[in-house]
Amino acid sequence: MSTNFNYDYTSTLTDEFGHPVADNNNSLTAGNNGPILLQDTYLISKLAHFDRERIPERVVHAKGAGAHGYFEVTHDITKFTKAAFLNRVGKRTPVFARFSTVGGEKGSADSDRDPRGFAVKFYTEEGNYDFVGNNTPVFFIRDTIKFPDFIHTQKRNPQSNLKDPDAFWDFLSLTPESVHQLTVLFSDRGTPFSYRHMNGYSGHTFKLVNSQGEAFWAKIHFKTEQGIKNLTVEEATRLAGEDPDHATRDLFNSIKQGSSPAWKVYFQIMPVDDAAKYKVDVFDITKVWAHKDYPLIPVGRMVLNRNPNNYFAETEQSAFSPSNLVPGIEPSLDKMLQGRLFSYPDTHRHRLGANYAQIPINAPLKAKLNCQFRDGSMTVNGNGGSAPNYEPNTFGGPYEAKQLIEHPTKVQGAITRSKPNHPNDDYVQAGTLYREVMTEYDRSRLVHNIALHLKNAKKEIQLRQLQIFYKADKDYGRRIAELLGLQNL
Ligand code: NDP
Repeated sequence: MSTNFNYDYTSTLTDEFGHPVADNNNSLTAGNNGPILLQDTYLISKLAHFDRERIPERVVHAKGAGAHGYFEVTHDITKFTKAAFLNRVGKRTPVFARFSTVGGEKGSADSDRDPRGFAVKFYTEEGNYDFVGNNTPVFFIRDTIKFPDFIHTQKRNPQSNLKDPDAFWDFLSLTPESVHQLTVLFSDRGTPFSYRHMNGYSGHTFKLVNSQGEAFWAKIHFKTEQGIKNLTVEEATRLAGEDPDHATRDLFNSIKQGSSPAWKVYFQIMPVDDAAKYKVDVFDITKVWAHKDYPLIPVGRMVLNRNPNNYFAETEQSAFSPSNLVPGIEPSLDKMLQGRLFSYPDTHRHRLGANYAQIPINAPLKAKLNCQFRDGSMTVNGNGGSAPNYEPNTFGGPYEAKQLIEHPTKVQGAITRSKPNHPNDDYVQAGTLYREVMTEYDRSRLVHNIALHLKNAKKEIQLRQLQIFYKADKDYGRRIAELLGLQNL
């Protein structure tokens, strides 16, 4: 990413304003051993800046690794979307990807059991498009109002500041919709070998709109070309001690050594009218669409081939949001997505400031900027200069792109706080995954991994959670109960 600052680190050392620094090793003192003087303004700036080096940690996805690359369209999908960056086979768009764990703090181990964030910023000619997915196709909850509670249970106990298996399982055992995601998370896919060896899923349903104004519901899949490769819980635990930065190191070194990890990108496309008839609520992020109902349609390929030049400037300051959409890709009614549309930009305002979009890694690269947002802390892009800062005006623009107005979505019913449309199928897809997709080896790893964690929770919580596994699949529940010594209860 280019910056305004051209460091020539082979010439004279300077302070932050470019003044030469004559001595960077000895403070200015009154006499050789005397107290340090207030007039050593260089020292004071140096200490004051150091005191401010840390910015707020992301409340989730705190530890991550990033890389630059490109996305290339490999198949004609213009019948589904008018998005300009997807409008020609062979078209390339620069990207920046950031992978992360979710619950762990910035210093936590890369190999911890956790979903992995899978975020990609596409620098398109119509502004930046952010894909902000995970390495799992579903999520623990389906309504954003539960998110802060859920994350509290995955973090630390408010009194002991320790990870709390009671809170972890208490909440989930009271939230049966979580069992599908739990089944993925406690399979060995919950401890991927590296960021290169996992898939990425939008999870959410989005709306695609083509140039004729026709709309489709869509889910987006990134499939690793490196192959799925996971760690066993034993390997993950060992790596957490021996090399807690294993996935970060793997991504950086593989790109440094010239291998360019790549993912094939697919859409699942659903005609809009199918949504009302489909067997699951298509806006419920705890559900997938069966591939046999909606097969994967190839779209393109993402290649990562360049490491960031500076971790803080690029990876730490990168700010992704599912609200960063381009014409032809719109949000859906998914209640988790609706919350994220607000919460991600809001987190970045808190973490990086109101003008975080001006930070080079977040600024548009290929689109022309004609924004009338003005002022605020850290305005560094010229602030629109002398151009009008209001619209409409009689000074020639900028003008609205009225032809790009959102596609209308029909809604009906009363304003209410309601349960989802399909309340009784929390267990079906977890059962299908367990019985029909997993091999016997996968199942044995899954029940082993769950028992190892669940055994640390109180017995009454274990029993409540076991009922959920039983409801997904009897064999699933029975095998965990046996491992916990609870089969006779
Ligand atoms: P399919 O047999 O067509 O697809 C199964 C999918 O499961 C594949 O995409 C595969 O991903 C993935 N998979 C394989 N092993 C595991 C595992 N241990 N943990 C998680 N995912 C795994 O079946 P359906 O589309 O009918 O889906 C059946 C079940 O598969 C679902 O209930 C869901 O749990 C799971 N699944 C479905 C996905 C979907 O979008 N339909 C996506 C991912 C999981 P890969 O090809 O990379 O090995």
